[in-house]
Amino acid sequence: MIRFDQVGKRYPPDIDALTEVGFDIAAGERVVISGHSGAGKSTLLKLIAAIERPTRGSVLLGGQNIGALPRSALPFVRRKMGLVLQDQKLLFDRSVFDNVMLPLAITGFPPKEAALRVRAALDKVGLARREKALPIALSGGEQQRLAIARAVVSRPALLLADEPTAHLDHETATDVARIFEEFHRAGVTVLVATYDASLFPGARRIELVHGRLSS
Ligand code: ADP
Repeated sequence: MIRFDQVGKRYPPDIDALTEVGFDIAAGERVVISGHSGAGKSTLLKLIAAIERPTRGSVLLGGQNIGALPRSALPFVRRKMGLVLQDQKLLFDRSVFDNVMLPLAITGFPPKEAALRVRAALDKVGLARREKALPIALSGGEQQRLAIARAVVSRPALLLADEPTAHLDHETATDVARIFEEFHRAGVTVLVATYDASLFPGARRIELVHGRLSS
């Protein structure tokens, strides 16, 4: 499903975030990208989501070289993924329900079917009863679960999450990690970048050290 072939990413002027990174991830796998702060974990996820392009090598998604796609094709590619990334903020002036509805509203989903899907997604992350709340009224763990519901409402085959358990206490972090486990069991390919791989026992681990795969 995902192939990195000799991938390098250099940010201007000369920061090598990733160097000669190569791996394959099959559909249905559950993978933890681990490594120290600054190891290149976020960059790796951004290359898969085509938010950044590789400066060397290729990133293939379903056999398609996504680094070479025209900009106009990217929203279509991204729509097939669920993204829980650092810079995708919740809308704090909209209800929980509206936050999850947004991705479907953007793609012009029929409203009735969309509402059913929103409620199903909220149910999966245990927020069914909070749909009218504003995000500010939610705890940190609930806000993270809301971000996950928004990411999965389009029923993507691939779920990417960047430090989804950061800033959460251990029990809440374990709860959030369990939600990813449930999506994996339902057949979703799950990639989580985290400094704490122990929250995802049994997952395949890809470890980065200063932008390179650790051997
Ligand atoms: P991690 O997610 O493991 O903390 P990142 O992928 O965020 O690592 O960062 C890897 C390296 O690339 C770091 O040295 C970081 O400072 C640098 N970096 C990340 N994003 C940018 C950017 N947009 N411009 C310049 N340097 C960046």
